[in-house]
Amino acid sequence: MNSTEEEECCGLEMMQKDVHATFLELMYYLLPSPYETQEINHLTLAYFVISGLDILNSLHSVAKDAVVSWVLSFQAHPGAKADLNDGQFYGFHGSKTSQFPPDKNGVLIHNNSHLASTYCGIAILKIVGYELSNHDSETIVSSMRNLQQPDGSFIPIHTGGETDLRFVYCAAAVCFMLNNWSGMDKEKAKDYILRCQSYDGGFGLVPGAESHGGATYCAIASLRLMGLIEDNILSSSASSSLIDVPLLLDWILQRQGTDGGFQGRPNKSSDTCYAFWIGAVLRILGGSNFVDHKALRGFLLSCQYKYGGFSKFPGEYPDLYHSFYGFTAFSLLEESGLKSLCSQLGITENAAMGL
Ligand SMILES: [Zn+2]
Repeated sequence: MNSTEEEECCGLEMMQKDVHATFLELMYYLLPSPYETQEINHLTLAYFVISGLDILNSLHSVAKDAVVSWVLSFQAHPGAKADLNDGQFYGFHGSKTSQFPPDKNGVLIHNNSHLASTYCGIAILKIVGYELSNHDSETIVSSMRNLQQPDGSFIPIHTGGETDLRFVYCAAAVCFMLNNWSGMDKEKAKDYILRCQSYDGGFGLVPGAESHGGATYCAIASLRLMGLIEDNILSSSASSSLIDVPLLLDWILQRQGTDGGFQGRPNKSSDTCYAFWIGAVLRILGGSNFVDHKALRGFLLSCQYKYGGFSKFPGEYPDLYHSFYGFTAFSLLEESGLKSLCSQLGITENAAMGL
């Protein structure tokens, strides 16, 4: 491959902000057919587009009122005869295909509202400036308690599912954005998170599981949102912390590979999304300067596609998930023209502050 071909295929010298914004605008109007199989996660895909456009400072292309109406249409509401103690969760559905009309008494027969979709829905509403304090958040948070398990973890949907740190994070982020923590027993959730820290310093998705970059993000971001660890903990006394910070930092710093990218766990290839999962943890801890920014930037640029978006690995076609985490990674690298990120929420600082 000569240098020109290489540049066309995978390597561009700069982060192409405007090209990425066009890429996301196309996704905003119409998702390509390969995303059909992910229709059940429609709100999550929308979160990648809307939050991505905000990071790229290009939210002006979005019809905010239409987005608000569309997102609110996914919310599950208890019927007249149902009450919030019926064991169900009244959050947001992930897509229209998981929404069934209520019966003649107004009771939802198949309520498939999901914690991850609820996080994405509320995040989108916050990004487009919807006033969440006017929202019926009490229904969401009080029914969310039905999802918390005796060990402190959360199931994502009241009919069952895996219980792990991902849904503890979604629950914490929802409570934080709605400014209402009655949705979780914080003490139990904290104990669960602490039991997920492994012998090597990272966190597994469940207690005793192998340390993983995504799980580590969920643990640290949740503790930060819950106000249980402070920002820039590395600049304060680590011994006063709930978690073993030096061991965590040691594990985190070993995730940057010789190619400059971050891996999710040992012996895995560098992958664009871990530039966020690992990078965001470093940002929360106050350790961003301990990694090689230039090398990370070089890796990310090798995953940048010439028509916009980022791929998982260098030289491949982009996807929405890795594109979004590429944008967040560049925001963490303080790329000019990009908005700064609220690492623990996955939305811009401005959106997090309601600006
Ligand atoms: Zn990935």
